[in-house]
Amino acid sequence: MNLLDRVVAGTVPHLPRRLVGAVSRPYIAGETLDDALAVTRRLNEAGMATTMDLLGEHVSNQGQVDAAVAVYRQALSELARQGLDGNISVKLTHLGLKLDRPRCVQNVRSLVEAAAASKTMVRIDMEDSSTTSDTLEIYRELRETHDNVGVVLQAYLRRSEHDARELARMGARVRVCKGIYREPADIAFQDGDEINRSFLQLVEHLLQQGCHVGIATHDERLVNGAYRILETEGGCVGHYEFQMLLGVTERLRDGIVAAGHPLRVYVPFGAEWHAYSIRRLRENPQIAGHVFRAMFRKR
Ligand SMILES: Cc1cc2nc3c(=O)[nH]c(=O)nc-3n(C[C@H](O)[C@H](O)[C@H](O)COP(=O)(O)OP(=O)(O)OC[C@H]3O[C@@H](n4cnc5c(N)ncnc54)[C@H](O)[C@@H]3O)c2cc1C
Repeated sequence: MNLLDRVVAGTVPHLPRRLVGAVSRPYIAGETLDDALAVTRRLNEAGMATTMDLLGEHVSNQGQVDAAVAVYRQALSELARQGLDGNISVKLTHLGLKLDRPRCVQNVRSLVEAAAASKTMVRIDMEDSSTTSDTLEIYRELRETHDNVGVVLQAYLRRSEHDARELARMGARVRVCKGIYREPADIAFQDGDEINRSFLQLVEHLLQQGCHVGIATHDERLVNGAYRILETEGGCVGHYEFQMLLGVTERLRDGIVAAGHPLRVYVPFGAEWHAYSIRRLRENPQIAGHVFRAMFRKR
């Protein structure tokens, strides 16, 4: 973490709401579901699919959970009604994991069923390491009865190599990403090269085992590494897609699409955009640095 990143991260919580809004705007579809659907339509027209994420996590009461479930249900039915190519990404702490686990499982199950009726899927995002085991357990439980559900492995976690072997055995749909939370060295690689090595090993192993892999990165070295794996694994057509966050490295994104690879854009939306932006920027000072640099590049 360099000095600029540290300074920016320390400053972020004190920034005026309007400024945080201006900085976050390219990365967030808007406050409403209609905003996320409009972005999905625009990206579909440019040859990309989306996954829509209603912002929110670690909720404190069941009312917030029910409200999130209702928006996600509506998102699924609108995707189908409007004929859009998208799915949803959910966070288990947003659906009540830490309030009432059985009810959380019921909530995700009901969304997976609604997604099946809309001919799409639900991706369960991976949160910080206090939720990893629960998330994978719940995923396994849902996967016994549904195949339109996917999960995420974080390349920085030392345990992910083992988790990938387990998931491969059940033919899981897995998004591989570096991991965004700050985790201690005893459970997570800290070195960028080690994380990248782990990322490509996970992608290669899961593809070789016939899993559908979401290759979620904006790191050009990883995109090129994934291209090499895809070339040697020849028969991967239909078994992978690249995934990127809305508004990030769009030139790299467009190059991937122009080269004929499937790509899905992660589209965050919702009234929680401010809290989300502040939390993300504080949690990961490097991202704060990217945003800050991007802001000045634009000017
Ligand atoms: C589709 C998708 C889903 C994700 N889901 C999860 C998840 O479930 N759990 C989880 O822990 N993490 C998730 N992440 C975040 C991921 O773990 C990384 O933290 C993040 O993607 C940055 O890693 P990178 O591979 O892009 O490499 P980096 O080396 O961090 O970034 C490469 C380059 O991309 C640019 N960049 C990257 N991120 C940003 C940004 N936010 N704003 C501006 N520029 C940026 C910079 O130019 C940087 O140099 C997801 C990421 C994506 C793309």
